[in-house]
Amino acid sequence: MQHDRDFDPCYGEAIELTPGLRRLTARNPGPFTFMGTNSYMLGSQRLVVVDPGPVLPEHIEALLRAADGATVEAILVTHTHVDHSPGARLLKEKTGAPIIGCAAHHAARVLLANEVNPLDASADKDHSPDHQLVDGDIFDAAELSLETIATPGHTANHLCFAIKGEGLLFSADHVMGWSTSIVAPPDGNMRDYMQSLDKLLDRPEEIYLPGHGGKIEDARVYADQLKHHRLNRETAILTHLAGADSTIPEIVRALYTNVDPSLYPAAGLSVFAHLEDLSERGLVAAEGGLSLSAVYSKLP
Ligand SMILES: [Zn+2]
Repeated sequence: MQHDRDFDPCYGEAIELTPGLRRLTARNPGPFTFMGTNSYMLGSQRLVVVDPGPVLPEHIEALLRAADGATVEAILVTHTHVDHSPGARLLKEKTGAPIIGCAAHHAARVLLANEVNPLDASADKDHSPDHQLVDGDIFDAAELSLETIATPGHTANHLCFAIKGEGLLFSADHVMGWSTSIVAPPDGNMRDYMQSLDKLLDRPEEIYLPGHGGKIEDARVYADQLKHHRLNRETAILTHLAGADSTIPEIVRALYTNVDPSLYPAAGLSVFAHLEDLSERGLVAAEGGLSLSAVYSKLP
């Protein structure tokens, strides 16, 4: 599938996307953050800031400069990854605005016996919202209405927000134009992710504003491609296992032929997420139980 990697982050500058909606990208580029985390500012006299990003004081200063004296009414957080939520506490210190949105960090499932959580370093475990939003909650601020859409998968607490009547949706790390999302156990869950894609496909919004990279036009077509990309991956895993029992590293080497070997660990977690889902659906068995090192077989 085609990704869009054409993006100028314009660090330190608030870029107006539509009247009353600006994007400010933090200078935290990397293999999993693309050019950096996007913060969004909604409103003019009264503001809502979406995802103030990592602990990066220069980015918080840039947000305050862009606010230019307007009142920050609320700080909205989509999910608890260290590149999205810790900046909320810095911004709260400076503005007194409440932190609202996603729940405290939690994994999609309990740890397996002897499992070390490979995602621990990416989780913001200090996030504690002043007000938690759940699926369907309407939140009024900055003269706008935002609808909360629970979209677990990338993380268990992931939220998207739709601006009512504008056809726009903040998709955070659930749907991004530059890359597929990381869906990795135990923090993430493939079945949840697929259901969360279906949830967006049932909605009318056509433009998504992601947590990394540029605006996604024709977003429902793109989300549908993401869904089919995962379904194809699932079929490829089942086909591979029909040939012979296999381990996750073997599946990765067979299926991710165009991927730099430095990304194999991340690919392995993605395959693990598929295998977890296939096992729950009774299509795959794991010798000795699910784990990153188990031998997997296809059930008849
Ligand atoms: Zn994330």
